[in-house]
Amino acid sequence: MASTLTTVFIALLVLTTLTRVWLGQRHIRHIQSHRDQVPAAFADSISLEAHQKAADYSSAKTSLVISEAAAQALLLALFTIGGGLQWLDESWRSVLAEPEMLRGALVIVSALVISSLVDLPFDYYRSFVVDARFGFNKMTPSMFFSDLLKHSLVGVLLGAPILGAALWLMQGAGDYWWLYLWVVWSVFNLLMLAIYPTFIAPLFNKFSPLTDNSLKARIESLLTKCGFKSQGLFVMDGSARSSHGNAYFTGFGASKRVVFFDTLLERLDTDEIEAVLAHELGHFRHRHVIKRIAMMFFVSFVGLALLGWLKQQDWFYTGLGVAQSSDHMALLLFLLVSPVFLFLLRPLMASYSRKNEFEADAYAAKHADAGHLIRALVKLYRDNASTLTPDPLHSNFYDSHPPASLRIAKLLKKA
Ligand SMILES: [Zn+2]
Repeated sequence: MASTLTTVFIALLVLTTLTRVWLGQRHIRHIQSHRDQVPAAFADSISLEAHQKAADYSSAKTSLVISEAAAQALLLALFTIGGGLQWLDESWRSVLAEPEMLRGALVIVSALVISSLVDLPFDYYRSFVVDARFGFNKMTPSMFFSDLLKHSLVGVLLGAPILGAALWLMQGAGDYWWLYLWVVWSVFNLLMLAIYPTFIAPLFNKFSPLTDNSLKARIESLLTKCGFKSQGLFVMDGSARSSHGNAYFTGFGASKRVVFFDTLLERLDTDEIEAVLAHELGHFRHRHVIKRIAMMFFVSFVGLALLGWLKQQDWFYTGLGVAQSSDHMALLLFLLVSPVFLFLLRPLMASYSRKNEFEADAYAAKHADAGHLIRALVKLYRDNASTLTPDPLHSNFYDSHPPASLRIAKLLKKA
């Protein structure tokens, strides 16, 4: 059984990595072969220069994703069949044999730190080389590292209790530990959703109340028309880090708020902002957010039940390069290895998400104006240098949003 798991794991790791590389290369080839001409539907609104910038920016980002995929696959192979986790486990055992729970937590944290260190140069390169070359990066290296520090501190503060709870339940809560952990995990996630907008997001960005009164009046009338109450309209200083524009509607219950990136407000007129917000409200009205949370609860339930069973199988450890079974290794192996097994489900999730986008667009067309949304989308695509000509297969596999041409074609029918 152990050798079967090893074989299946290696085969899937190779297959997923090759798929990621192949899709990325297809995407770049497709974009480059359409670089010389702006698609007819956008010929009036997007210049050839902007189109070519989008082509080159998308290609550069995709190349980076390909290298990152290769690096992550290599690290995972080294961790598992390469004996890396086994080595980490033994190293900590020789430093600190007891208490077992603390040692387990240290093993998990070290593996996660190593894994983020591998991602770090890619993140740095993305901001300071790729985004900088195309004029999007507004961050300084000191900001990058202070963000990293803050993210790590928040990660430790929030992650430590949940990791502690997991190891404690695994050790002492009997056969149904995974069910209790699922309850803890679900409550934790709901709590995070509630406190994120008010307590965590402000650690990274400044939020100030929206002051433009005519825009405010317009948005409030849209909210009322669509039957929404919000805890306030905010502007976020997205421009401090990047010149990409965005808007979102966040939180649930009493902490719901509408957040606009300052970069979005700078570029769109009142009509367009209203249409973008109507799209976001569409996500809420169609319960996309709640459905996503429900789906996450279901997936974590199945995942933890599976882990409850795998934890007791010796082949689960030996098949993945770990000699002795232990609670922390079961948890760590599961966290690291399950994405490989889930990768092939990605097109399903992406297609579901694209369906949601179409629904939100239709809602915006009904409650605001389809023409205004089209104008906003064209501006956002242009200013974010998003490609208008993605490889169809790449887009079907990964993209959470449908290609601009499809969204606009559907909106045109409603305009
Ligand atoms: Zn959307």
